[in-house]
Amino acid sequence: MENVIIIGTGCAGYTAAIYTARAQLNPLMLTGTQPGGQLTTTTEVENFPGYPDGIMGPDLMLKMQAQAEKFGARTVWAGVDAMARQADGSFLITAGGDEFAAKTVIVATGAAPRHLGLPNEQALVGHGLTSCATCDGAFYRNVPVCVIGGGDSACEEAVFLTRFASTVYLIHRRDTLRASKIMAGRTLAHPKIVPLWNSTVSAYLTDEQGEMRAVKLTNLVDGTVSEVAVSCVFVAIGHVPNSSFVGDLVDKDENGYLVQQPGRTATKTPGLFAAGDVADHFYRQAITAAGQGCAAALEAERYLSTHE
Ligand code: NAP
Repeated sequence: MENVIIIGTGCAGYTAAIYTARAQLNPLMLTGTQPGGQLTTTTEVENFPGYPDGIMGPDLMLKMQAQAEKFGARTVWAGVDAMARQADGSFLITAGGDEFAAKTVIVATGAAPRHLGLPNEQALVGHGLTSCATCDGAFYRNVPVCVIGGGDSACEEAVFLTRFASTVYLIHRRDTLRASKIMAGRTLAHPKIVPLWNSTVSAYLTDEQGEMRAVKLTNLVDGTVSEVAVSCVFVAIGHVPNSSFVGDLVDKDENGYLVQQPGRTATKTPGLFAAGDVADHFYRQAITAAGQGCAAALEAERYLSTHE
């Protein structure tokens, strides 16, 4: 029986692992489906304290992993399928065909990119549709591409893609960006980025091989429909929390985010804690996720010391 299992290895998960490992709880980390979390798909992180010159997202995660493992945290590379509470109050987790039992669990599974929900969207993933410019941008050299969205992610993706693409269309449903001022300014000032305001993508258009060739745009102001030729669409319209496996052990809000007790990382189930983007639709920052990971670790430690 483990003292603590941490599900998810993003900023929240690794921070929880560092704290619980240093508290001699010998934590077990289950990586989830995206080891290292969302920062592994981003480029330079400029706002994580301690890195005045910025740090590449994947490098930051490798450092967190090394720090957690240095103190003895163990890793199992598996996505969690289900979790149940047993009669004695402990938890049984099924992951990758194996079962793991723990006295406490910290759910830090983060969130996954949201898609538009168009009919052929899933089939196009890997054929000209992606949510990761860092992963796929280099495949699209000297061709036009587009980014959908108006937040920091969309701007970051668009600026990154200017390294490769001939033109980067930034398709946004309104006429102002939600992104931070510094990011929005950098994006709109770039000569390769062409904003297409008040527009939504109403269809993905493919060639005979099933590869993306264009998007159909609907202008939300005058209703006009147009076609924009692009070889790849980068969807950056926010995220959905990876919370389905918790069943009814934790309450969820209307968007699937886990509900914590006010001001806490504890959930309605004793011994079960939630940290980071899976429970946070408001801040959603690497540093706030790390802070919640720390808080969850402290709460788990206190729970164990009062229940043993
Ligand atoms: P976000 O801030 O929620 O922005 C999502 C964007 O997608 C919005 O512009 C939204 O439009 C648009 N959108 C949502 N649903 C849509 C739909 N169905 N069709 C078309 N457009 C849709 O998400 P994010 O950009 O992923 O950022 C999430 C958080 O991470 C934010 O707090 C952000 O500041 C942070 N972040 C920070 C950095 C950084 O500092 N380096 C980088 C990336 C992200 P509306 O504007 O009309 O709502």
